[in-house]
This record gives sequence, structure tokens and C-alpha cells, in this order.
Amino acid sequence: MLGLTMKGTSRESGELALIKRIRSAAGRGQSLGAGVALGIGDDCAILRPPRGHEILVTTDFTLEGRHFRREWHPPESVGHRALARGLSDLAAMGGRPLAAFLSLALPAEMLATRTGRLWVDSFFAGLRGLAAQHNVSLAGGDTSESPCGLVLADIVLVGSAPAGRALRRSGARAGDNLYVTGELGGAAAELAAMEHLAAKPRAGASRVPSLAQHSAHPQLYPQPRIDVGLALLRRRIATAAIDLSDGLSTDLTHLCQESGVGAEVSADALPIHPLAAGASPAAALKFALNGGEDYDLLFAARPTARVPRSVAGVPIARIGRLVRGGAITLIEAGGRRSKLKPGGWEHFTGER
Ligand SMILES: [Mg+2]
Repeated sequence: MLGLTMKGTSRESGELALIKRIRSAAGRGQSLGAGVALGIGDDCAILRPPRGHEILVTTDFTLEGRHFRREWHPPESVGHRALARGLSDLAAMGGRPLAAFLSLALPAEMLATRTGRLWVDSFFAGLRGLAAQHNVSLAGGDTSESPCGLVLADIVLVGSAPAGRALRRSGARAGDNLYVTGELGGAAAELAAMEHLAAKPRAGASRVPSLAQHSAHPQLYPQPRIDVGLALLRRRIATAAIDLSDGLSTDLTHLCQESGVGAEVSADALPIHPLAAGASPAAALKFALNGGEDYDLLFAARPTARVPRSVAGVPIARIGRLVRGGAITLIEAGGRRSKLKPGGWEHFTGER
């Protein structure tokens, strides 16, 4: 836990200062979330899930060079995205976040230089901003000097859901309709624009944008759909759900495999993010289907379910339906049908 373990370091004072900053970033002394009985400062955190709830746990790496690039992503974005990845997994299951735990390895120069310390402070500012938005506290973690000169983070999110009711990938049936929240392809389109700018930081993106501006930066500041997931569970709308981290084609394949069904997706029905819509129609479709990192939700609902046009202020679009068998078919304008294969974008490797 933070404040107690400092492994393999000769930079004791730098790390102590870091831990101090993390503790203040975690809001020590301020009110912890309702589900945290004891936060940073002891060997373990103590969590207090609501009565009658089960615990949901998810863990996600945020690795420099794999999930972000220090020359492209401002530090606030890296902190925000690290937490967003975990929150999005909770959202997919209708979970309410209880606490986050962060293990962070930093290159030696980050602990020793002012610029490095500023990067770390900004990383936590980004993480803290999103945490406050979802009322989740950083309740523990670990720090170490990175052995490879890269920033390496692992975040664990703990949440809760009423016993037996968490949304799963496996609950859908043939005949169910298929829906997505928000808009697709924005994160990949923004990443492509960042790549185009070739290592120059985006003007105006180095500060954490206000909430109203977040939708303009779907790659840098994705919004996990916690409130939507809670509502889908509470109102018993969804039969199955998954978050769109790897791209619609890949995540839909996961949902279909777990539910033992196939799907038909209508290309015209896909809600395309404005950043993606600026590309050619073919590129926009590719961003929406394979782009990944949108962190919106894909869910199924019975054909008799009344699915609202928006949930918790987020628009909902019906994009197709689930069918018997395992085939996933894309139906384009004019009725042309093609096989939709999992083509989720592999982070930074260019493989599809
Ligand atoms: Mg997920």
C-alpha cells in the first residue's frame, strides 16, 4: 500500500515526496467515498460495500508506448484515461464504483526533476478530476522506480452491484435488439489527428478541459458511462452489456460469443462521432467499427423492452439485432451484406 512500500529505490527522498503528493492527490483527510471505511495509510484499505451487493473487480494496465505516448498525450489525459479504463469496465456491468487502487512505476528522472514532478502532479490532477466526477476515491496503491525508463501504471477498480444482478456479456438471446451509447469512432479519429501532427502536443489540449469540452477530446478524455450502466441495471433494460474498449467489431464478437448468438449490424444506424464523420465515409465507418477506446457501452435488450432515446443524458442508438448462429453481418446502404470480423485496433502497433 502507498506510504509503506518503496521497493528497489535509491531515491528515498524523491519517492517520499511523491508518496506525499499522491496522498494529497487522493484527498487524504477529506471525506472518502461512502464505500471506503479506511483509505491510504495502513497495510490494506477497508471497503464497505452496500448491504446485499456483490463486489466487482477489474484491473487495467496503462503502459507508456502501448496505451499512451508521453509526447502525444498530456499527463492529465494519461491519468484520466487510466481511471476511465477501469470505470468503463464497471459501467459495462452496471457497477457503482467503490474505490480505485493505483500501482505506478516512474522513470528515475521524473522523481529527480521539476519537469518530471510536474508531469506526475498533472497525471494525478487528471485522475482526480475524473474520480471526483464519479465520487470514487483512490484508496491505495504502490510506487516504484521504473526499471525501463517508461511510465507504467496498473489500476484496480472495485465496485458493487446488487447481488446476482450485474450485467454480463452472456445474457443476450437471438431476437434481442442491439444498442450503443454515445458516438463511435471519435477516439480513433482524434488519435489519427494526433499522429498526423507528428509528436507535437495538441494546442489547447495540455490543460484538463472543462466537462463541456470533454466530448471534443474523445481520445484524450473519454467519458466512462457509469450512470448509463447503473440505469440499465436498475431499470432492467439490458440483457447483456460490454464496454467498447477494443472497437465495436471486437467487443460485439465477445458479446455474441458469450451469449451464443450472431448479430446483424446496420452501418447506417451507427452514431458516428463528429471527429470521425469529418473523414471519408469509408474511413469514418472503419473508425466506428474498429477504432476502439470509445468507452461507450454496447448492450442488448429484449424486443419488447422500452429503450429510451437517451439514458442519464447520453443518447442511445439501436444499431441492429441479435440472430441465431454465430455469424456477425454488416448491412450497408443498399442492403449489401458482409461479414464483420473482429478488427479491433491494436494499440499503436497498427495491427488490425
Ligand atoms: Mg471491458
